[in-house]
Amino acid sequence: MFALDVQQLAKVYKGGFQALKGVDLQVDEGDFFALLGPNGAGKSTFIGIVSSLVRKTSGRVQVFGQDLDEDPEGVKSSIGLVPQEFNFNLFLPVLEVVLNQAGYYGIPRREAKVRAERSLRQLDLWDRRGTEMRKLSGGLKRRLMIARALVHEPRLLILDEPTAGVDIEIRRSMWSFLRELNAKGTTIILTTHYLEEAESLCRNIAIISEGAIAERTSVAKLLGQL
Ligand code: ADP
Ligand code: ADP
Repeated sequence: MFALDVQQLAKVYKGGFQALKGVDLQVDEGDFFALLGPNGAGKSTFIGIVSSLVRKTSGRVQVFGQDLDEDPEGVKSSIGLVPQEFNFNLFLPVLEVVLNQAGYYGIPRREAKVRAERSLRQLDLWDRRGTEMRKLSGGLKRRLMIARALVHEPRLLILDEPTAGVDIEIRRSMWSFLRELNAKGTTIILTTHYLEEAESLCRNIAIISEGAIAERTSVAKLLGQL
């Protein structure tokens, strides 16, 4: 089964700009996949549609066999999204940020507390549960966004430019966390405009350019090793 199966996906924004022009893309279950492309290529639009934040104009999206049009709740609960921007809820304590997200998925409060603790411990943030989000460093904020995205134990984790603007040490620790998560079975898709990030982290890669897939290959092939 595919973790993600997208066919002829198109998006025309209000005002008429066509950000996606018939994207076809399949990502295998268990894959660690990079969507690579320059600014403005359509990466955020693509993952916005897949994670139910942006409405598609046409095309088909299936996540683990669930169709976005027929079973939007099934799709939503299968995906965890780590957004690029996190300027919301800055005065909320760390624990509440994660509990709110559990609420978004309809998880009852008692269950949410168990899951939030597990999620925060997994990212080494449990000791900071009382700290307001605005007081966290950039690296810790990113870790919190990952904990938040994992609270409902999604089978597919999508990250939008996860390491843009972070220093090398934080990048390394995020990379090793993501590798471990993938090794335990979570499918991961990330967007990046760093070829180096795609190469050292991912197994397969698609290059998106001006709203269409320009190339779909394995990292091994890309590096000339096959
Ligand atoms: P990327 O993530 O690859 O940088 P985006 O998906 O953010 O690309 O944007 C693709 C194109 O769509 C860009 O030209 C951008 O200006 C345009 N775009 C993005 N969001 C909107 C919007 N809400 N309304 C109109 N145009 C948009
Ligand atoms: P609001 O309309 O008040 O912004 P939403 O229900 O859209 O509330 O979102 C609630 C929270 O869940 C927000 O923090 C938002 O970023 C996040 N969120 C919204 N949609 C998704 C999604 N598809 N996947 C993961 N998180 C989401």
